[in-house]
Amino acid sequence: MAESRVRAGTSDTGKKAARTSDAVASGESAGARGEAGKPATGRPAGRSSTAKGSRTTGSRAKGSSAEQSVRRVGTASGVRKPESRLAMVRRARRINRELAEVYHYAHPELDFENPFELLVATVLSAQTTDLRVNRTTPALFAAYPTPEAMAAADPAELEELIRPTGFFRNKAKSLLGLSAKICEEFGGEVPGRMADLVSLPGVGRKTAFVVLGNAFDVPGLTVDTHFGRLVRRWRLTEQTDPEKVEAEIADIIPKSEWTMFSHRVIFHGRRVCHSRKPACGVCPIAALCPSYGEGETDPDKARGLLKYELAGEPGQRLKPPADYPGPAARPADESAAGDA
Ligand code: SF4
Repeated sequence: MAESRVRAGTSDTGKKAARTSDAVASGESAGARGEAGKPATGRPAGRSSTAKGSRTTGSRAKGSSAEQSVRRVGTASGVRKPESRLAMVRRARRINRELAEVYHYAHPELDFENPFELLVATVLSAQTTDLRVNRTTPALFAAYPTPEAMAAADPAELEELIRPTGFFRNKAKSLLGLSAKICEEFGGEVPGRMADLVSLPGVGRKTAFVVLGNAFDVPGLTVDTHFGRLVRRWRLTEQTDPEKVEAEIADIIPKSEWTMFSHRVIFHGRRVCHSRKPACGVCPIAALCPSYGEGETDPDKARGLLKYELAGEPGQRLKPPADYPGPAARPADESAAGDA
């Protein structure tokens, strides 16, 4: 029974076996594991200020003044405790470790097989779901498999192929422009440097980081709407501008973790920590979250808010990685339900 598993558990990351999505679906959270019989908020989020084992504290921790380094954190119950920057950095890194166990299969949710496909899919993903992009790109990549082919595309035909992703006229212009520039200035290969990527039409830092992190193994933080919402809920930053969020989180999370931290945060935002109704009652990092209680705290009701593989439903990729624990998404013509 879920409760007995919760009570028998431990919050010591070093002792835990790898957890699966079942742990989330069963309501086994970091908070519940650490505080048997108490609500997950029984211990304020700043508890990890006393945690042992964190060897590094982030570059800002060393130089910042006490006034700058203390933030107010606490729980949704109104209990507020000051949290030093050092404690906040340790808490952030613990959140990363917890999420790494829960979402050990985290990955980009766009289907792609090479850097060009990833670049195109990421451009198309603006203002729509990854699922809709994944249902659109098979026909697009079959018609225009290379930058050369896409640069020579008939604009009207290209627009028609990408119409389901919305804003198709602007997106078609971007795809034609970036394909032409890749051919003219980069020898037909997607460049692997930030400065070159953002020089391409329709490519901003967010798109560039997705491509760098997932096609070139260059660490990058992807600050999308989920990422921004979650790191603010966790009181890791108060910034709302994506570039400022990126800069502050880059100072907290080790560079080697940036790409996977982004995937984990976005996975959590899409599955558990929703914008309108977070599933706090089954959240695996409830004990580390100052915003516990913003959403549904009843575990049974919270379980009903879970999405994708945590709800036993298809994910967003038609071709997910082999270790993905849920079913693949269905192509558009096989789905009667439409986008998730
Ligand atoms: S679901 Fe979101 S708001 Fe709720 S405890 Fe988890 S991380 Fe915090």
